[in-house]
Amino acid sequence: MKRVYNFNAGPAALPKQVLQRAQEELLDFQDAGMSVMELSHRSKEYEKVHQKAATLLKELLHIPVDYDILFMQGGASLQFSAIPLNFLSKGKTANYSLSGSWSEKALKEAEKIGSTHVASTAKNTDYTTIPSQLELSEEAAYLHLTSNNTIFGTQWREFPSLPSYIPLIADMSSDILSRAINVKDFSLIYAGAQKNLGPSGVTVVIIKKELLKNCPDNIPTMLNYQTHAKNKSLYNTPPTFSIYMLSLVLEWVSEQGGVEAIEKINLEKANLLYDTIDQSGGFYIGHAEKVARSHMNVTFNLSSEELTSVFLNQAKEEGFVGLAGHRMVGGCRASIYNAVPLESCQALAEFMKRFQTNYR
Ligand code: PMP
Repeated sequence: MKRVYNFNAGPAALPKQVLQRAQEELLDFQDAGMSVMELSHRSKEYEKVHQKAATLLKELLHIPVDYDILFMQGGASLQFSAIPLNFLSKGKTANYSLSGSWSEKALKEAEKIGSTHVASTAKNTDYTTIPSQLELSEEAAYLHLTSNNTIFGTQWREFPSLPSYIPLIADMSSDILSRAINVKDFSLIYAGAQKNLGPSGVTVVIIKKELLKNCPDNIPTMLNYQTHAKNKSLYNTPPTFSIYMLSLVLEWVSEQGGVEAIEKINLEKANLLYDTIDQSGGFYIGHAEKVARSHMNVTFNLSSEELTSVFLNQAKEEGFVGLAGHRMVGGCRASIYNAVPLESCQALAEFMKRFQTNYR
């Protein structure tokens, strides 16, 4: 069986052990005589899976008791609408920090719902940096930011500290569980699963219970956070297989020594690739400014489009998949989420050096 070096941006690599475990259990899940996909979402067996995913996430991220964990659908993109629908009330203004296209998309949805304000932006640097100089509006409903910018390859290192009455909301789709965070600093964290958490189909929402009081009754039931909190994310049929896979990924993270241990390996992986770029004498050019570099998405260019194309073709021939940059930015991008092993990054660094020797 051939397994490639998978650098896809999402859906992305999953731990091999997780895939093997899912394969072993696929036809007969824990003596149920059926697959986990065939279980009723109201069954005792499924309930355990659902509960296990929530408990493990709580442990791994040290989520305090005054937070709820929700499993929703519609991807991170549906959260772009759910957030203003629930928290942008009349007379208030939703504040956004713009650090890339995903935060722009989040803002665009909020604009359809109420008053908005750009509190900080890095657009003027072509999103090679993280925004600084926050200027909040009057009557701020919340501040929304994107912790890791999947497309541009930048990442917040330190988050803004706000007055306690202004909720901080973060889209952590592409770096949740990759580094230690202080959940208490946020009122709401959300993430589509398909990068660090599992397959696509489930969106994890970590929400401060206090915030649930503000959800209005007159919004669609399925977009109301209260619906999901009151019903333990079982108001309707949840994406049971994705949540099962999430529980296996979380178990795997625990076995690796938790988020703190994973963070160290992630740093080693990122440093390996950034060092290769920095020591190439300009052959490879990193997109992000050094201080803003993402430890999850390493974006870089070669000197011309032709050379980039040769690089990508040769990489593909040698089993490196998913290295083309996003169509908006071009160039190359190596997404090195939790499940991408150090060995894949070592192999890529070696390939980059070899390619440079041949094409300098
Ligand atoms: N936010 C970020 C930071 C992302 O990287 C992505 C997807 N690449 C999204 C939001 C959108 O996620 P989804 O496809 O789950 O809606």
